[in-house]
Amino acid sequence: MSKFLSERLSGLKEYIPGEQPKDMQYIKLNTNESPFDPPPEVMQAATQNRAANLRLYPEPDCTELTKALACRYNVDSSNIILGNGSDEILSFCFAAYFDAKSKVIFPDITYGFYKVFGDLYGSDYTEVPLDSGLNIDTADYIGCNKNIVIANPNAPTGIALPLSDIEKIAASNPDNIVVIDEAYVDFGGESCVPLIKKYSNLIVVMTFSKSRSLAGARVGLAIADSQLIADLNKIKYSTNPYNINSMSQQAAAAALSCEQYYTDRIREIIDTRAEFCRGLDRLGFEYLPSSANFVFAKKDGTDGQTLYLKLKEKGILTRHFASPRISDYLRITIGTRRQMETLLSALSEITEDIQ
Ligand SMILES: *Cc1c(COP(=O)(O)O)cnc(C)c1O
Repeated sequence: MSKFLSERLSGLKEYIPGEQPKDMQYIKLNTNESPFDPPPEVMQAATQNRAANLRLYPEPDCTELTKALACRYNVDSSNIILGNGSDEILSFCFAAYFDAKSKVIFPDITYGFYKVFGDLYGSDYTEVPLDSGLNIDTADYIGCNKNIVIANPNAPTGIALPLSDIEKIAASNPDNIVVIDEAYVDFGGESCVPLIKKYSNLIVVMTFSKSRSLAGARVGLAIADSQLIADLNKIKYSTNPYNINSMSQQAAAAALSCEQYYTDRIREIIDTRAEFCRGLDRLGFEYLPSSANFVFAKKDGTDGQTLYLKLKEKGILTRHFASPRISDYLRITIGTRRQMETLLSALSEITEDIQ
């Protein structure tokens, strides 16, 4: 850090992304990417006739992609904003609404970026503890009269709240913003997008990074009441109007025309998750009920850090969080069937010593 860094930022603890080591070919189950390539139509759309277009700025309002999304989610184009990944959308939300004068709450165990944005934007935030089973207790949020950010399904637990709970939270806090981060909703959650017509305080955040195999394209979005979208556009046009490059706009729009492909791949992930959990049962692991493309698992007699290191030695990357209450756990992305079988054999070898 240099002596020039703003004093306000000198204590900021930045987000630490999952490692992307290049020293060898790992089975990569640490950042919840899809193990499947996007369909050929998406690759073609990203590159076809685009060389000339790279000379030009991309469309700031992502017209075609926004239209396709409006059609897909049965909302108006004025209910949608695109971001450079949903991380940027979340950043816009914190910048727009959560300052030092407005309280915002989110779970103590959740997506690490909420706290980072809270610090970056000087939000008055509080982390609300999950219950002993690592569930969100909705009672903490109903009628709390604070702004709220919830990942549903939550990460890294994978546990989803029912739509009825999200509705109670939005309905009982009409004077506060409720952000629901649905990064993993396609793997078993219930989307609350239909509720935006009823609740003008609700912002639903989604991404193409996980279920649509486009993490590298950086495309995320929010769906909300058009006045909230106007607020978020104010931030976007005050920072980076051209936030989605033209190739990514094309790729994401093409992805929306390949619904069947993605439905089949998502089904495969869900089935593989169930098979993998049965394998964990056989090995005596405990795990949380996942509605996401990852499983949060632990085993008595060992800790997450040890398991993480031994798996890495065997060429398998998983994610370990050295935080209180969850340091025994590993967050394991669901890969292909073959990758998960390799992982189960590795876990079997590693844990033989500790049975
Ligand atoms: C992965 C993830 C995101 C960020 O995804 P982008 O790649 O920035 O779209 C947001 N929220 C949660 C809970 C995530 O796990």
